[in-house]
Amino acid sequence: MLIRVALPVPLYREFDYLPPSDTSNNTDPNSTDLNTIDPNTTAPPPIGGRVQVSFGRQTLIGIVVDHIDSSLSEVPVNKLKTIKQVIDTKPLLSQQMLSLARWLAGYYHYPLGDVLSVMLPTLIRQGKPLDLLITHWRILPNVSEADFHSNAHKQRQQFAMLKLHGEHGASEDTLLLEGMQRPFLKLLEENGLIERFLQPKSPPNPVTLAKMPLTLNEQQKQAVDSIIATAKEEKYCGYLLNGVTGSGKTEVYLQAMQSVLEAGKQVLVLVPEIGLTPQTRARFAERFAANILLLHSGLNNTQRMHGWEDCREGRAQIIIGTRSSILHPFANLGLIVVDESHDQSYKQQDTLRYHAADVALYRGYQLGIPVVLGTATPSLEHLKLVQEGKLTELVLSQRAGNAKTATLKLVDARDKPTLYSDLPAAPSEQASLLPNLKNSQNTGLTDDTIHAIRDTLEAGEQVLVFLNRRGYAPILLCEACGWQADCVRCEAHLTVHHSQLNSNQPSYLKCHHCDWQASIPLACPDCASVNLNAVGMGTTRLTESLHALFSNPQTSKKTYPIIQIDRDTTRKKDSWEDIYRRINSGDPAILVGTQMVAKGHHFPNVTLVCLPNADRGFLSPDFRSPEHTAQLIVQVAGRSGRGSKPGKVLIQTVQPENPLLRKLVRDGYQPFALELLKERKMLGLPPYTYGALIRCEAKTLQRATQVLKDAISIMPQHQLAILGPIDAPMKMKNSRYHSQLLLLSKQRQPLHQLLNYWWPQVLQLPSAKYLKLTLDIDPVGW
Ligand code: ADP
Ligand code: ZN
Ligand code: ZN
Repeated sequence: MLIRVALPVPLYREFDYLPPSDTSNNTDPNSTDLNTIDPNTTAPPPIGGRVQVSFGRQTLIGIVVDHIDSSLSEVPVNKLKTIKQVIDTKPLLSQQMLSLARWLAGYYHYPLGDVLSVMLPTLIRQGKPLDLLITHWRILPNVSEADFHSNAHKQRQQFAMLKLHGEHGASEDTLLLEGMQRPFLKLLEENGLIERFLQPKSPPNPVTLAKMPLTLNEQQKQAVDSIIATAKEEKYCGYLLNGVTGSGKTEVYLQAMQSVLEAGKQVLVLVPEIGLTPQTRARFAERFAANILLLHSGLNNTQRMHGWEDCREGRAQIIIGTRSSILHPFANLGLIVVDESHDQSYKQQDTLRYHAADVALYRGYQLGIPVVLGTATPSLEHLKLVQEGKLTELVLSQRAGNAKTATLKLVDARDKPTLYSDLPAAPSEQASLLPNLKNSQNTGLTDDTIHAIRDTLEAGEQVLVFLNRRGYAPILLCEACGWQADCVRCEAHLTVHHSQLNSNQPSYLKCHHCDWQASIPLACPDCASVNLNAVGMGTTRLTESLHALFSNPQTSKKTYPIIQIDRDTTRKKDSWEDIYRRINSGDPAILVGTQMVAKGHHFPNVTLVCLPNADRGFLSPDFRSPEHTAQLIVQVAGRSGRGSKPGKVLIQTVQPENPLLRKLVRDGYQPFALELLKERKMLGLPPYTYGALIRCEAKTLQRATQVLKDAISIMPQHQLAILGPIDAPMKMKNSRYHSQLLLLSKQRQPLHQLLNYWWPQVLQLPSAKYLKLTLDIDPVGW
């Protein structure tokens, strides 16, 4: 018998090894792991377990994917090497996880060994034994309460006291999650107050309700009933929970989850890759007394491995995680929820380019459990699946409780082109940035918008102005010759960072794609003119303009705070909490925010939302742009009127006659999206065709293009539409050139058949050496 192993190497094949003949030499004498091999047996390494093998001159860790008969190997048996070490004597990955890996490898045309690498936490991949014991901390028996009361760290000491009493104390993981810091635990240990010990992991307590559920409205009830019925029958069904913002989708998740959790099963809730997780956790923790696990990018390797094990062994009951948690093993998963399922962060943009919502549907099908995709703005892909009967739609058309749906209104802004950086404003409207920039009177906001803001503030309410661009201005332009400050490494303008109000703030130019920085030149490098202007509007400039209008005691009777929320202002630790606190006070204020504020947040006193240039996406050449822009507009609009007062949304536009935009404002997202879907069908674009995008990154554009031309020349007979090679949307980024080739097919099958055969050959092309070639199935941007 031979052992077939998947190794983390970029080759589309697996490798055969001889089983270890005498396993007694293979046990690591230092290992404390109960899982390592029993020296008295010579059982072959199990399928789904890790082994260490020689590969060329390296030693690699791989996963056993099969036991095969010696006659089946392509390599003569006497040429095969023997497995060096068996790491797991029991399977680490179940058959189900291996089929998931095989499906991912097949669908995304990615090597199986690399897929498994993406699926496993780093420490597991490096061969670390599973942790069967975990560190706990407890108070030493002879220590009394009084010993704990030193004046320093009083609060933390009390917190520790509370958590660490009892024979079992508390696990270190739990303590760290609750905000305790390891150095503090060590300090208490050094002071002879507490001790650490190892404890076998204990099974979780059954989940109980911590708080009564809300009374559902009719639509919510129907949704919950359908999901629960599917879960009880242990069947797969994909649901699209299509509910306007504020319609109570979360309450539907919670009540569907309750039934699944009470049956002793796990629930996975996927959330977009934003700071949503702590807030979401609070909502779940308030409802259920359960082991809630958070999986996000901020975890270190040990926490990640423990999280992975807790999913696998069933200790985690509710798992709230970003994209990659869909690749975790679960002991007994009963329900998957994908919140904000339209969100683009669900698509992984490097290595294995999977879409977490698609993988969620596959896993639901594989496990026979319901999958709920929840959103106010479904993607066109998901709407098409509803039309085809592959997803079941559950509609929530009303806001829950007393909140009313916000009204959208278009505002004609054709005389305010400042906000459109690619349409440079007339020079007279711009103030010179250097040497003495006068504050421009042009805020980029129309008089109607300014009036509406003033009325809202005077009524004691809050305003949100959404501008998806950080910094002071997106362009530095020479008025004399038209020179613009560009990044030397990217095909992109440098953003002007500058502050009128705060002279301590340094002024500089920065590339938002590669972070390259430069100082602002005193004169144009091409023509030496000093007439340099900052063109267009970023959040800093908008904040300062609004400041002049609403916050300056010299010009206005009453002043209001202007709160800027973007990556620049929230970078420091705790700054988000501080901003949140100011907003939640409910006092009248203007919030100026980027993408960061678009999703998930609950600002109950915001009653007016202004979008000064959100319609830009309707001018973009990318065919997906209207869909994504509309999703963004609707999500931002959803931040208004979430409390008891009705909300209003003003969308400034330079194209007030645009039929799509008018449809969105008049009829809402769904009819708009269905219209777009018809258009895609007519034009033969996704989701009515299936796409694969090949991208090449090289030192020169010529090399990047050449390999794609060569790839076309070795393509067998086909029925696909081929677009390219063309330059990528940003052809130079970080000093590397990007070229791309798009394949579109009317059916999925022929596309995948072609790729199976052709893609491995493309990777072997002589011109493909020393450059980066990637394949993206169902790409979202090109
Ligand atoms: P969504 O996720 O659809 O945007 P949320 O779940 O955040 O909406 O719900 C919006 C608000 O409505 C929340 O404050 C929630 O507590 C409340 N809510 C939800 N369902 C009900 C209900 N059946 N009765 C009363 N209030 C509800
Ligand atoms: Zn010039
Ligand atoms: Zn750059």
